[in-house]
Amino acid sequence: MVADRWFRLQNIEDGISLITEIHVARWLRCNIWHIRGRNHDLLIDSGMGLGSLKQEIVQLAERPVKCISTHCHFDHMGGAHEFECRLGHRLERSVYTEPTRYNTSMESFVRAETFEALPYAGFRHEEYVVRPAPLTGYLDEGDVVDLGDRVFQVLHLPGHSPGSIALWENRSGILFSGDAIYDGDLYDSAYHSDTGDYRDSLSRLRELPVKRIHAGHYESFDFARMTEIIDQYLAGGDSIGDVDGWIRSHLD
Ligand SMILES: [Zn+2]
Repeated sequence: MVADRWFRLQNIEDGISLITEIHVARWLRCNIWHIRGRNHDLLIDSGMGLGSLKQEIVQLAERPVKCISTHCHFDHMGGAHEFECRLGHRLERSVYTEPTRYNTSMESFVRAETFEALPYAGFRHEEYVVRPAPLTGYLDEGDVVDLGDRVFQVLHLPGHSPGSIALWENRSGILFSGDAIYDGDLYDSAYHSDTGDYRDSLSRLRELPVKRIHAGHYESFDFARMTEIIDQYLAGGDSIGDVDGWIRSHLD
């Protein structure tokens, strides 16, 4: 079955919208965040690149968009090629330039069960790769992304991947965390993951006066839930080690 619509748009709060790829299985589906600004808008992550995100977000605003990828995994940067301004961390630049199934960490995540409907006729998951989207600028710790009326600071939070970044709005206490933290089993076993770095990044987040986290996957959460997730991980709780086994446990 081919999907009628590939994306769903939801207004979340104060200029922030969530875009999701509704026919991608819940255990993989990335949260794509759109933030309206006075001078331009931000897109934080861009999903798998299987439908036109650019056409979809025209209905949200018509200002120029900065497309920030929190990291170089296929489910977060697949749509980046559609945008002129593509920002991410320098350490992952070669992946954006020459993405492969391996270096974008597809592993076993892309399989028949990943799709509840097909993005277009003739789509074959075995042949899916993301399109190259070379970064047009780099973001690193301490950098500031200024939308005119909202300001975000870049945090470099390696572990899930070496160039994982998050965006922190001090005024509102909102953090867009990518996969540095989300309310689910953390994935610390990709080819370029580093569990020591992951622990350090999470310990650092624990000190941040966060009110609300809009993450790369699953539901948004507050400071109390953030500390629970961090403490569970630091105490050796669940993470995604064996991808196949983990996916099997999520299939109905
Ligand atoms: Zn990831």
